[in-house]
Amino acid sequence: MLALQGDFREHLSVLAGLGADAVPVRRPEDLARVDGLVIPGGESSVMDKLSRLFGLADPLREAVASGLPVYGTCAGLIMLSDRVLDSISGQQTLGGFDVTVRRNAFGSQLDSFETDLDVPALGDVPVHAVFIRAPVVESVGDDVTVLSALDDGRIVAVEQGNLLGTSFHPEITGETRFHEYFLDKVRARS
Ligand code: GLN
Repeated sequence: MLALQGDFREHLSVLAGLGADAVPVRRPEDLARVDGLVIPGGESSVMDKLSRLFGLADPLREAVASGLPVYGTCAGLIMLSDRVLDSISGQQTLGGFDVTVRRNAFGSQLDSFETDLDVPALGDVPVHAVFIRAPVVESVGDDVTVLSALDDGRIVAVEQGNLLGTSFHPEITGETRFHEYFLDKVRARS
C-alpha cells in the first residue's frame, strides 16, 4: 500500500478485511517486500513530488515494469498513466498503463458525485462508485481492457496485464470486489 499521501488507511482496512497482509510502503525497502501495491486516491501532483523526494519514483517504475500487480484509485490511476492531461507544470507519473487520463475531468460544477456502474467482470450487481475530483480515461491503447464506463461512454475502470485502475473510490463505500479482483492477480503471480 503506497502510503505517501492520500486515503491509504481506508485501503489498508479493506485489504486487511479480505485477509491480506497489507503494509504501508514509504521507502524502497518497503516496496521490495510486497507482492502487490495499491496506490490510493489523494493528490497526484503531491504524490509525484513525494515519491521523487523519497527516492521511490524509480523503484516504483521498475516494479511496474517488472510486472508487480498494482491497483491505482483516482490519483493512483493518474500516477500509473502514461499520459496525463491537465497536469500541473512539471508533474510526472510512473506510467505503465497505456492510457491518457484527464485530471479533475468533471470540472468544478460537479466535483464529486456518486453513481451505480455496471462492471461485468465483477458480476451482475452494479458497483456503487464515489467520484471525488476524479479523472477520466480519455483514450486507451490496444492492450487495455475497459472494465467500466459511465452512461455517456467516459471510461472509469481499466485493466492492462497486472495493472488495475479506477477513477473512483471503492475503498470508501464498503465495496470490496475490486480489491478481491486485485488480490487474485497478486496471488496468481506470487
Ligand atoms: N484530483 C486529484 C488529482 O489530480 C485526484 C482526486 C482523488 O484522488 N480523489 O490527483
